[in-house]
Amino acid sequence: VIVTTMITFWILSVIISLYLANWTLKPILAAYEKQKEFVENASHELRTPLAILQNRLELLFQKPTATIIDESENISESLSEVRNMRLLTSNLLNLARRDSGIKIEPEPTTATYFENIFNSYEMLTENAGKKFSGNLKLEGTVNLDQALIKQLLTILFDNALKYTDSEGEISVDVIKNGGFLTFAVADNGEGISDEDKKKIFDRFFRVDKARTRQKGGLGLGLSLAKQIVEAYNGKITVEDNKPKGTKFIVKIRVDSTISNPAKIFQKL
Ligand code: ADP
Repeated sequence: VIVTTMITFWILSVIISLYLANWTLKPILAAYEKQKEFVENASHELRTPLAILQNRLELLFQKPTATIIDESENISESLSEVRNMRLLTSNLLNLARRDSGIKIEPEPTTATYFENIFNSYEMLTENAGKKFSGNLKLEGTVNLDQALIKQLLTILFDNALKYTDSEGEISVDVIKNGGFLTFAVADNGEGISDEDKKKIFDRFFRVDKARTRQKGGLGLGLSLAKQIVEAYNGKITVEDNKPKGTKFIVKIRVDSTISNPAKIFQKL
């Protein structure tokens, strides 16, 4: 009886330890898989512009007597690949830094901060021959990390600009309601299918790889936006805009008005 009990006990403990090992290893393995996929994607994204660049430089070498003017198209396209790579590497660095935790550094912020952002968006939209409208409802002061919030809004705004045609209309709403601040960035562009809506916040995801690459899209913007929103414990959602296009909505909690100037002084 003793031997049988010992064997049963031993078998049970093996089963339990196997189960526990699986339970603890699973998230580690999943994180490792994600990391691996990320590195593979990043390498692939860097390899493409490098291959194009190598090709173009080799072509230049084959024409030693050609002038810069003769090859201006070749050179300008090479430059655009270099810009792509620079953008990609700086986005990757941003993401890597963010992975170790975003630090929010709030500053007292008033409507003027958003008005300045709206002004620059209006200029950029008009330069692209499109229409912009901004809607701002914010009284008093809120505590915000200005650099992060600008980065977040600009990712959404840049996409709205990128994914609309010449008839593009873009609107940005910033509305404070109670303890919440809501941002809505809407466009009348090509829209996003319900299937793709589930994937657009994944790193390197682009609906149409070939076309978005032409537009300079790397598929990192929205994952960065999501990280910023999550650092704020907020929510980012995407829906269809009516009658056409896409609308991104961000909701974050904000501190109430700072009425004590001494606090601001302390921060300075
Ligand atoms: P990208 O740098 O490629 O724009 P993002 O992460 O910002 O990367 O966006 C991921 C993909 O989601 C884009 O490639 C595009 O296909 C789609 N997308 C994002 N914003 C919009 C939008 N406003 N309208 C249509 N498609 C969009």
